[in-house]
Amino acid sequence: MDSILVLAHTEADGTLGKPALEALSAAVALGGELTLGLVGCTVAQASLPALPSVRVLAVTGEPFANPRYATDAAAAEALCRASGASLILAPGTSRWARVLPGVAYRLGGRADTHATGLALHDGAPAITRWFYRQRIEAVLTRAERPWIVLPDAGCFAPWTGATGAAHIESVPVDPPSTRTTWERIEAPAADRQTIRPDAKLLFVAGAGWTKKQADGAVHAADAAALIHNFLERSQASLGGSKSLVDLSGEGEAVLPFMTHMNQIGQTGATPRHPKGLSTCCHGEEPHVVGWRFIAQRRAVNLDPNCGWARGKADVLYIADAFAVLRELNRLLA
Ligand SMILES: Cc1cc2nc3c(=O)[nH]c(=O)nc-3n(C[C@H](O)[C@H](O)[C@H](O)COP(=O)(O)OP(=O)(O)OC[C@H]3O[C@@H](n4cnc5c(N)ncnc54)[C@H](O)[C@@H]3O)c2cc1C
Repeated sequence: MDSILVLAHTEADGTLGKPALEALSAAVALGGELTLGLVGCTVAQASLPALPSVRVLAVTGEPFANPRYATDAAAAEALCRASGASLILAPGTSRWARVLPGVAYRLGGRADTHATGLALHDGAPAITRWFYRQRIEAVLTRAERPWIVLPDAGCFAPWTGATGAAHIESVPVDPPSTRTTWERIEAPAADRQTIRPDAKLLFVAGAGWTKKQADGAVHAADAAALIHNFLERSQASLGGSKSLVDLSGEGEAVLPFMTHMNQIGQTGATPRHPKGLSTCCHGEEPHVVGWRFIAQRRAVNLDPNCGWARGKADVLYIADAFAVLRELNRLLA
């Protein structure tokens, strides 16, 4: 039986984020000896899971507050060594994804990212992972140890037990010399931040928004206002088809808040939301493959023969998306 380290970085307030709590619940479900390793400026002790049998180790201090390869790698390596764990579960955040494969190399172990499941197979831990853009699902084990596994966010229910009273053992780490200094976070304005992984709804805009409409004219400004309003009111996450994000990228400011980061599909993202609503998007396979994990799918299209009508959506509204969104915004107002 592997001993497990759940390796997490704390949030700015010293608490554990949702992805960390998801990794913790995955580890608890697997069973076995468990250690929690934390990296951050501070650890909010009262917010930690109250799991009496779990050892808690932490590397804290100002140098470890913000993501930076040298300091994160040193802290993670020290925690892995101090715990002696053979299986390390770390949330698949951008901070850890950048650092932990390098840490696995330093430890002589292996790392696997984008795990979507974890279970015991013949007594050994095995992860589920998708390949070839979510088309092939594999279950894999590894003989090498330590094995660092980064589960994707949203694949496990976050841990929800009682909190508080953890005894924290501090692991001393000399901050390595570093050429990188952390200055500040520059985040886009709230109304420009259109990618919301935790939103209940994924709203997808396709290239149809930029096409000539029944009156023979293009209504790009109208489209931008309708979509912007809808996103504000519904707090949905915004996705785009490749055709639309390419248009935006080529300087035709169709939707000023749409970038390549919003693209859904084979060459785009595969987000996880309970519901999806596609508008003015044809529903071609290379796009719909990115809807793999969207549970309930609806689409609005003028064309009754569009891709969504061919078994790709649960409900297809043959309707003018401009009219539908105008009405939706009225109802949400
Ligand atoms: C290797 C490869 C990888 C690809 N990867 C991706 C990918 O990752 N993501 C992706 O999206 N695409 C990808 N594509 C492209 C994909 O095949 C499609 O070309 C693209 O998704 C089409 O975008 P669209 O549906 O927005 O535009 P269009 O095909 O132009 O469709 C526009 C739709 O809008 C509808 N419409 C117009 N006006 C209205 C209105 N008023 N109300 C309602 N409906 C309206 C039209 O009926 C039409 O169906 C890839 C292609 C290849 C070859």
